[in-house]
Amino acid sequence: MSMDPKHVPTICVIGGSAAGMTAAIFAARSGARVILIEGNDRLGRKIYATGNGKCNFFNRDQDPGHFHTSKDPSWIIDVLKSQKDDFVLDFFRELGLMSTMKHGGYYYPVNESASAVVACLEEELQRLQVETILSDRMRTLTYEKDAFHVLLRSGRIYQADAVILAMGGSASPKLGSDGSGYYYARNFGHTIVEPLPALCPLKLENEGTDFSMWSGVRFGDARITLSVDDIPVASERGEILLTAYGVSGIPVFQVSGQAARSLAQKRKVSITIDAAPDMNGRDAQNAFSEWSAYAGHRKLQEQLCRIFPQKAVDAFYHFADREMKMSSLDCASFAKAFDRFKHMTFIVKDTMGFDQAQVSSGGVDLSEVSSETMESKLRPGLYFAGELLDVYGDCGGYNLQFAFTGGALAGQSAAMAWKGRERG
Ligand SMILES: Cc1cc2nc3c(=O)[nH]c(=O)nc-3n(C[C@H](O)[C@H](O)[C@H](O)COP(=O)(O)OP(=O)(O)OC[C@H]3O[C@@H](n4cnc5c(N)ncnc54)[C@H](O)[C@@H]3O)c2cc1C
Repeated sequence: MSMDPKHVPTICVIGGSAAGMTAAIFAARSGARVILIEGNDRLGRKIYATGNGKCNFFNRDQDPGHFHTSKDPSWIIDVLKSQKDDFVLDFFRELGLMSTMKHGGYYYPVNESASAVVACLEEELQRLQVETILSDRMRTLTYEKDAFHVLLRSGRIYQADAVILAMGGSASPKLGSDGSGYYYARNFGHTIVEPLPALCPLKLENEGTDFSMWSGVRFGDARITLSVDDIPVASERGEILLTAYGVSGIPVFQVSGQAARSLAQKRKVSITIDAAPDMNGRDAQNAFSEWSAYAGHRKLQEQLCRIFPQKAVDAFYHFADREMKMSSLDCASFAKAFDRFKHMTFIVKDTMGFDQAQVSSGGVDLSEVSSETMESKLRPGLYFAGELLDVYGDCGGYNLQFAFTGGALAGQSAAMAWKGRERG
């Protein structure tokens, strides 16, 4: 490669989604010639699917506990702090995106359309004259004679001073991320922490329970507690959906990464659903005393259906006393019946896999990547960004935030490092 001070570095970015588009923008803004290579026939295909098409791209709650890795979590904080506070909001505001905050902290485009986010990024790529190659995937990546050589399936070859791998993980492979990024990272000597599905539904054991009976039940506000080897390790609250295979819904997604990792370690994983998290046994007994005057003629099952979805009562409460009249029950027996809906415990058999996962946990080992630059510590000039790394966030905009922020850092660093090397 030329060491002419006027030499404009060429940077190839592989993967044209959240991390890759942002990396390309920041590399180009820093003066590099940028080639962005995307296997799909359009950029940002996964972004269109985010937030049910509305794209939840940031969250006001910046507690670092929302980000997860198997290594040192301070690595993630370093990356997030590399840009100024509210970087993601400012970046998109400058690109003309108006946003709205919902549910106490979740940011979406004001028109609630993910295409607005993609359009802003595409326009900026065009303005910066980033060369974008679509419908062509990288086939081989080598480093020889001071340059990276990127060979595409079509046979096209590019030579680059730096390469940014932003190819995502293994989640939702139909949207383009088929896990091939791990292969290229491994070829340069990187360790891959076993990728596992995260933010996904869970499959439950169905011994003795006919899940087809409960399929379609929706607990509007329930609590799920995940236990590993019978010890509670995580708890989340919100809408929980029961399905023919198990459970789904945001609270389930939030605990699924931990469930998957524990299952991979062959540990016993179970969940307990509390369908009435705001009521305890005493509340049930008090309510029973108030109702008994008017509801004595009702069967227990009918009374339970006034508290919980009928389908749930049919599926879970097949005990002999369900037919008993409320008037013939005492307070304690009603509380016992009620209590069954606070402690519905099931063994977790598996997750629903990468096809239904929103993200992958695991990925490129963070100890081999600089948190200051996103550059590989093993192969100078090679950079990583986004979900390909061993980082994932909770539902709530954290995954896109990490992809955008880390993408920006990788793009800036790749372009600036070249300038530094020229001087050296
Ligand atoms: C259904 C769904 C909903 C989600 N909702 C949200 C949400 O609301 N908020 C949030 O923060 N996160 C959400 N996520 C997660 C978020 O979308 C991802 O974490 C984020 O897109 C990761 O960005 P990335 O650029 O690292 O990888 P990806 O978005 O996975 O992009 C990787 C790109 O690389 C390309 N590629 C891969 N291999 C090659 C190759 N060899 N050559 C060329 N190109 C290649 C792929 O085609 C793909 O376009 C959701 C995910 C899904 C699936």
